[in-house]
Amino acid sequence: MSASRPLLDFTVRQRAFSSGRIELVEGTDVVGLTGGADRVTGAAVRDRESRQTRELTADFVVDATGRSTATPGWLTDLGLPARARERFGVGVRRSAMWLTSL
Ligand SMILES: Cc1cc2nc3c(=O)[nH]c(=O)nc-3n(C[C@H](O)[C@H](O)[C@H](O)COP(=O)(O)OP(=O)(O)OC[C@H]3O[C@@H](n4cnc5c(N)ncnc54)[C@H](O)[C@@H]3O)c2cc1C
Repeated sequence: MSASRPLLDFTVRQRAFSSGRIELVEGTDVVGLTGGADRVTGAAVRDRESRQTRELTADFVVDATGRSTATPGWLTDLGLPARARERFGVGVRRSAMWLTSL
């Protein structure tokens, strides 16, 4: 059995939000972390339309912004020492080919 990526995304999203315990803040960008060197207390988010920035407080912050993450810089902004980025190979290769009939 297989499913398309959009169907999988849709199903996971529907399931996650069905509890009513999760609020999705759309149309915003995270522009920094709040708190200090001893503790992160939340994230600063900016509305893309109004350009207004506000703070979302949290006990636990997860960075899910992918490989373009700005978190290392945001942590140094809070007073933490800069960390060198670590890279390691996972030993997986992949190739793809698009075939059409003549
Ligand atoms: C062309 C291509 C094909 C791929 N094909 C496959 C595949 O077939 N199978 C596979 O397993 N993997 C594939 N990958 C890899 C896969 O897409 C990534 O590994 C995966 O998306 C990483 O997930 P992520 O949630 O960590 O980051 P992302 O999917 O990059 O999600 C990060 C999200 O955070 C958002 N974001 C970033 N910064 C901010 C900010 N400041 N404020 C608010 N939001 C922000 C971004 O808009 C994005 O929606 C492919 C990648 C590419 C580029």
